[in-house]
Amino acid sequence: SPPAERYEYQAEVSRLMDLIVNSLYSNKEVFLRELISNASDALDKLRFLSVTEPELMKETLDFDIRIQGDKDNGIITITDTGIGMTRQELVDCLGTIAQSGTAKFLKALKDSKDAGGDNNLIGQFGVGFYSAFLVADRVVVSTKSPKSDKQYVWEGEANDSSYTISEETDPEKLIPRGTRLTLHLKRDAKDFAHPERIQKLVKNYSQFVSFPIYTWQEKGYTKEVEVEEDPAEAKTDNQDEKTEKKKKTKTVVERYWDWDLTNETQPLWLRNPKEVTKEDYNEFYKNTFNEYLEPLASSHFTTEGEVEFRSVLYVPAVAPSGKDDIINPKTKNIRLHVKRVFISDDFDGELFPRYLSFVKGVVDSNDLPLNVSREILQESRIVRIMRKRLVRKAFDMILGISMSDNRGDYEAFWDNFGKHLKLGCIEDRENHKRIAPLLRFFSSQSEEELISLDEYVENMKPDQKDIYYIASDSVTSAKNTPFLERLAEKELEVLFLVDPIDEVAVQNLKSYKEKNFVDISKEDLDIGEKNEEKDKEIKQEFGQTCDWIKKRLGDKVANVQISNRLSSSPCVLVSGKFGWSANMERLMKSQTM
Ligand code: ADP
Ligand code: MG
Repeated sequence: SPPAERYEYQAEVSRLMDLIVNSLYSNKEVFLRELISNASDALDKLRFLSVTEPELMKETLDFDIRIQGDKDNGIITITDTGIGMTRQELVDCLGTIAQSGTAKFLKALKDSKDAGGDNNLIGQFGVGFYSAFLVADRVVVSTKSPKSDKQYVWEGEANDSSYTISEETDPEKLIPRGTRLTLHLKRDAKDFAHPERIQKLVKNYSQFVSFPIYTWQEKGYTKEVEVEEDPAEAKTDNQDEKTEKKKKTKTVVERYWDWDLTNETQPLWLRNPKEVTKEDYNEFYKNTFNEYLEPLASSHFTTEGEVEFRSVLYVPAVAPSGKDDIINPKTKNIRLHVKRVFISDDFDGELFPRYLSFVKGVVDSNDLPLNVSREILQESRIVRIMRKRLVRKAFDMILGISMSDNRGDYEAFWDNFGKHLKLGCIEDRENHKRIAPLLRFFSSQSEEELISLDEYVENMKPDQKDIYYIASDSVTSAKNTPFLERLAEKELEVLFLVDPIDEVAVQNLKSYKEKNFVDISKEDLDIGEKNEEKDKEIKQEFGQTCDWIKKRLGDKVANVQISNRLSSSPCVLVSGKFGWSANMERLMKSQTM
């Protein structure tokens, strides 16, 4: 067979390997979680593809993960019957970093270093495949893709900037399909090969893997064996009886080695919510979405009747970094299953409106076909109903956070996802009723703490009909605007819309609890103090002055009017009733230039 070929790692991989091998010492045990999660991903991929290509399974129908520890030689093998890798995939997957999880780790590591922090981040992130080098100084990956007729062997060593790939030639090592990892443990990590240690780690870290994980364990069963009684002993027991050989039984333990099913394979979402703890939900979240922070909220529900599906949804604690994800989310946040089979995490857009794309979760439907595609989803009445329910549950979850005793939770939520909800005001008219109570603003009477629209309404004056707002670029400039003067004098509260999207959001809402949103910078502001007699008098007195000013300013202004909205400033520039507000104009300019 052809000789092994040698390849250099991509520079980032070398850097990562160097870091793993030489500077990360704590939490080494996460390697097992990472490698099991890869095996589980590989099984998921196969199960999904085999729906349309059943011939991929012809070598074996098994879908499982087997882990064997050899403590005498310090070797662990992890074998899965998943999708395996072709030669090219070995190069692409194990020689370069394309993966977000690992990339995220490197970034966090850099951030924490920049901040002078230590780099004990590995337990939080995991670094995927390369975490094998936390415990091993040599790693062998022997893998057989059902798309290839050959099995290939990848071999890499700690402190080496290259790896090799060759064909598997040893007939004893051939596998029907999938991947076998062999870890040759470092001297100080040999304990990890102890079967009991492996069992414990699997129970700790991989309880939510939905494929069976078997570990190689020493077992025992008891059996009764007949023994011949010692005549001397018999004598003392039965002094009256004649001495005679009697048969007696004894219990002995027979030892043997066998595969032991070590995890619970019932998916979390199929379990009874009453029997699942908050810790379980949080662990499931961290495992499934490669997150290290606990979620702000979770919701587990089943719907029956017209459409049957189960779901566990989460609100993350932080928004992903990157600016354009709100407009163009590519999130992989919703994992769609059909009858327990993982289908894809690419259908977020079909199951949630984009303004809720930050919600993470799993959805499992019994009503969709296994070969479901985007086209089918988009046409499906079932999906429309699912989407509606999911959105409702998401709002319930967010409302729950807003009512939590811990005010900080909602502040964190608003900080991260407030923009999304405002986008919802623009894009989802149908859910205005659900979104509006969740909005928060600063106001002329609450410059430091955000208030809700309910709080605003509660604080309205008895004869106040409208909800007043002023759009500006900051709280400071909002509170110094002359438009506020009269309202402040009458102690009317004014919302400060300081985020560029606020004004459009509020204009889309139009009203809240039957109270209209009114821009105090527009020309016809009526704060309930019209006095026609007096207006007439003033108009007579100052009419000519207005005409004169209008002449001087010409086209620069549309109109010059007498108004009663100011108390100390002599004049103010306002927007026409049907025109853009000054803030909108600023916004539009920034969009087009
Ligand atoms: P991630 O799992 O986040 O993609 P990893 O570093 O853990 O990143 O793995 C890199 C890639 O290597 C995986 O995306 C997958 O394509 C491939 N891979 C790793 N382990 C296996 C396996 N057991 N079977 C098939 N492919 C695997
Ligand atoms: Mg991985």
